[in-house]
This record gives sequence, structure tokens and C-alpha cells, in this order.
Amino acid sequence: MVGEIINVGTELLLGDIINTNAKFISERLANLGIDLYYQTVVGDNSERLTTILKTALKRSNLIILTGGLGPTKDDLTKEVVAKTLKIPLILNYPCYQEIKRKFEKRGIYMPRNNIKQALIPKGAKILPNPNGTAPGIYLQFNKKHIFLLPGPPKELQPMFLNSVENLLINYSDSQLTSKIIKTYGIGESGLVKLIDDLLENQSDPTIAPLAKVDGVHIRVTTKKNFSDLEKVVKIIQQRLKDHIWGYDDDQLDQLIVETMIDNKLSLSLVESCTGGAIASAITDIPGSSMVLDQSQVLYTLKSKSEFLSCNIADIPNSGIDYYLTEKLAKTILEKTGTDIGLAITGALGPTVPSGVEVGEIYISTVNNYKSITKKFNYYGTRENIKERCVMTALHQLRL
Ligand code: ATP
Ligand code: MG
Repeated sequence: MVGEIINVGTELLLGDIINTNAKFISERLANLGIDLYYQTVVGDNSERLTTILKTALKRSNLIILTGGLGPTKDDLTKEVVAKTLKIPLILNYPCYQEIKRKFEKRGIYMPRNNIKQALIPKGAKILPNPNGTAPGIYLQFNKKHIFLLPGPPKELQPMFLNSVENLLINYSDSQLTSKIIKTYGIGESGLVKLIDDLLENQSDPTIAPLAKVDGVHIRVTTKKNFSDLEKVVKIIQQRLKDHIWGYDDDQLDQLIVETMIDNKLSLSLVESCTGGAIASAITDIPGSSMVLDQSQVLYTLKSKSEFLSCNIADIPNSGIDYYLTEKLAKTILEKTGTDIGLAITGALGPTVPSGVEVGEIYISTVNNYKSITKKFNYYGTRENIKERCVMTALHQLRL
């Protein structure tokens, strides 16, 4: 089975939106073991879409089209597919009623335009769309499998998982199995050095390091033998040891909150540059009320000096400083009586006070027995640096 994706939408060509549908479908096809050879983006133009579709029909036996199933004139995917394959579009009455019912539920009279969404190519299978009005469509034509899926990701993704995959699973050549190993505290190049012999000689399983915001991930994938995959994973575990913090779907915030709940530990925070984002990550996790006591966002020198009961002039280095951060962590620990106190200060840029660099970050974690304070230097946009600060702070809570 050779797959091909055609994403339809002028806004994709203009760069107005990112083609997340291509990413999503590609990942899912890889998981199903279906080879994907081509991805094409084409505007809302029937002539050009016809050309692309004809090419796809010559070279692929699975064609997945996304977008252009809406009610407006520029939504023309279905019409182009039907015309190219010379299949008539027929009004599907149950589909029409379903769309009408969806409008009625919202208290709206169904606009005439939407009748178009109930026109289905003769002989096609309808894929239900609980999150929108346009149904998906599955067509078999001359041993080709053709899917038409709605553009909005919140409609496309559940439809793909619930309907498309069940149909595709029968056509998968070989199932891929992957394991993701999540590491921290070692850069991509340092990590590659530790496993370079494995990377050089790889065929199956394949090994791919990927730098992510929560650390470097290693994806090990096999098409053949699960025990070979386990062998490679074991070797990587031996080489990377303490750098490994999780596997597969493990999320750092969840891991931290669950570990703290298990150990009955409470936490208080002083956040300067993250502005509450560490508390936000922690409170995303159910049960975090058993862990987090409070987070104080102390952004100005004034607020920091009041918190520490000192003069503004005594706050060193514009509030971005190793000892200051440690003091903030110790003070919140004292004030709250929690088991752990964490403080973070740093400069996100692009402008910074003199004597401080963009991306200069200090994180301090303290308990009643010890304190760990570390300096980090990060590059990137304000947003990138902030995101890394949150992840680094969470990692420091593992120590
Ligand atoms: P609608 O009924 O909303 O018009 P549609 O099936 O006709 O749905 P489009 O009109 O092509 O789909 O796109 C609707 C919206 O879906 C776009 O404005 C965009 O927000 C999103 N979208 C479309 N294609 C993609 C894509 N490839 N990746 C991510 N988002 C997309
Ligand atoms: Mg549309």
C-alpha cells in the first residue's frame, strides 16, 4: 500500500495556517505501517486539484484528501473528485437529515448552502462527523482507496482515529512498533556520542534522537521483531542511565505531581520570569491540590524586596541572581512550611538589564535539609525560553 496526502486550502499556501493535518495523518500512517510517499498542498482551485488528483491516482493506491468539504463555493474537493472519477453526486437523505438536526440543535435554521454537504458520491461510504456538519467520505475506485476528510483538525482527528484507521488497518503492510525514551540533562550531541555505534549501524530497529522542550527523546522503531526493539532499548538504558526520566506518553508535569502525591510532599513557588507558568503546568494535573500550596509571582524589584523584607537597593543584579533566587526559595519554604520551596528568576529578553544576558536563568529548590541552585543559559524567543524554564524547574523538582 502506497499512501499519498493532498491537503486542499489556499490559506495553507498563503502561510495563514500550519498544515497540522499533514503531520497528524503522516504520524498515524507511520504507526499503522503504511508507507507514505507524497504530500501535496493545493489551493481551492478545481483545475489544479484535478491535475494533482490525476497524478495521485497514477502513483498511489491510498489517497487522503483534507479540506474543502464545507458548504461554500470555494469548498470543491468532493465535486472535483466526483468529476474526475466520473461518479455522480447523489443527495443522501439520512445525511441531509443529520445535518439539519445539527443546525436545529443549535437553534439555527439550516442554510440552503449546507444541503451541498449531504451530496455523496454514488457507492461511497459515509464517515460520521460528530464534531461538525460535513461527513467524511470513503471511496473505493479501481482498487484505489480514497478518503475525503474535513479540514478543521478537531473534526478530522477524531474521524481519522474512529473511522479511517479501522478501515486502513486491513491494508497495512507491516505494523510498526515504537518506544520513546525521554532523557534530560544531556544535549543531543552528547547523547549521540553515547550511542553513535548504534546510530551508525541501524537498519531495523531504527533509532532517532529528537530534541524536545522537556529534553531529548529517542524513538526506537521496528517493523519486524519486537524482541530486537527491546534489546536496543536495554542497551540505550544502560548507556544513558540516570538521564532517562520517562517513556512513551509520560508527561513531566504529571510525573512530578504523581511522585509528590506518592511521597506526600507539598510545594510552594516563587515565580518571577515564568509569571505563574510553573503553577499552571502543575495545576493542569488532577490531584495537584494535594501538592501545590501556593505560587507567588514576584515580578518587580519592589515585590521581591517586600517579600524578603529588605530595601529595593539590596536586591542584587536587577533581581536576576543566584543568591537572590536561593533566598526567595528559602523564604517561601519558611513562610509556608511546605516540604519543598522553588524559586525562579531570569531574563527572557529581548531587552535585558545591564550585566544580565538574555536567557540567563536561576532556579533554586530547597527543603529542610538541602538546597540546589543552578544557573542556565537558554537561547530563543521569549516564549521558547519561558517554556524551557517551566520544564527545567519541573526537572529540578525530580532531584
Ligand atoms: P469548513 O466546513 O470549516 O469550511 P472544510 O472541510 O471545507 O471545512 P476548509 O474550508 O478547507 O475545510 O478549512 C477549514 C478550516 O480548517 C481552515 O480555516 C483551518 O482552520 C482548518 N484547516 C484546513 N486545512 C487544514 C490543514 N491542512 N491543517 C490544519 N488546519 C487546517
Ligand atoms: Mg471550507
